[in-house]
Amino acid sequence: MNTSRRDFAKQASLLTLGGILCPSLARANGVYTVRAGDTLEQIARRHGVRTADLKQANRLESDLIRVGQKLTLPPLGNASVDRAASPTLRPYIVKRGDTLGRIARTHGTSVAAIKQLNNLRGDVIRIGQTLQIPASVSSGDLLAGVRRETARIRVRRDNWKRIVVHHSAIKYGNAAIYDSAHRRRNMQNGLAYHFIIGNGIDSGDGEIEIGPRWTKQLLGGHVKSYPINLTAIGICLVGNFEVDHPSKRQLDAFVQLVDWLRGEVIPGARQFAGHRDLRGEQTVCPGKNFPLAAMHARYG
Ligand SMILES: [Zn+2]
Repeated sequence: MNTSRRDFAKQASLLTLGGILCPSLARANGVYTVRAGDTLEQIARRHGVRTADLKQANRLESDLIRVGQKLTLPPLGNASVDRAASPTLRPYIVKRGDTLGRIARTHGTSVAAIKQLNNLRGDVIRIGQTLQIPASVSSGDLLAGVRRETARIRVRRDNWKRIVVHHSAIKYGNAAIYDSAHRRRNMQNGLAYHFIIGNGIDSGDGEIEIGPRWTKQLLGGHVKSYPINLTAIGICLVGNFEVDHPSKRQLDAFVQLVDWLRGEVIPGARQFAGHRDLRGEQTVCPGKNFPLAAMHARYG
């Protein structure tokens, strides 16, 4: 993101005020608002319900959903929730030293998802407690959802010339949270990046979320330079890599995503840059702990 330190602080406070509570609020009301990149199956899995029940609860005749659509969530613990037979949930018994963050990271899911599934209000867990955990998405499948969604759109192959990597400069957040923060900063197209890669707090560790600018093939808003925004795909990893390190799954997902984009989707996007590599951008983004040199060795 192209912001000064003061803006970071402002953005951080906006995000904490506006976004962090969203997932649990959504569940408490029994309504979920569809985000870019969501599939019915994914939403059902995250909320511990069956896809069929979710469809029935919303009288959907097909699997087609649209961004912004409000879905009624079938209640948890309802007879229709078939936890035992569900291949996508498994019990986990809390051990000494566990935190929600660590459990989420180990299982490739998010703190928000675990809290929702288990109706936890706070972050306190106790040794011996049994939590329902969404089954881990294998690292090899990190791209699956993005491939599926991208197959539905017409990619402007000739438009995209380069890929720029960012960190979000804040530990929290996901595509929906940054999208509303960017809209509040008067970015009409919302989320400034095309893709967000989660860190296991507000979205899965290594989960790739697609922003509306990718599904609509719109210019980015992720650098200061307008001409670069016109032709550069923006990929943002959640985290402040001046302080923390990207997780292994985040980097796996990033490499899978960039390999695939350059190999199959937009072969013209041959240039690769960290945000701070670009001339005139006064920023440390994507942070000193992002392995930018290694990525340049891979992508030039
Ligand atoms: Zn940046």
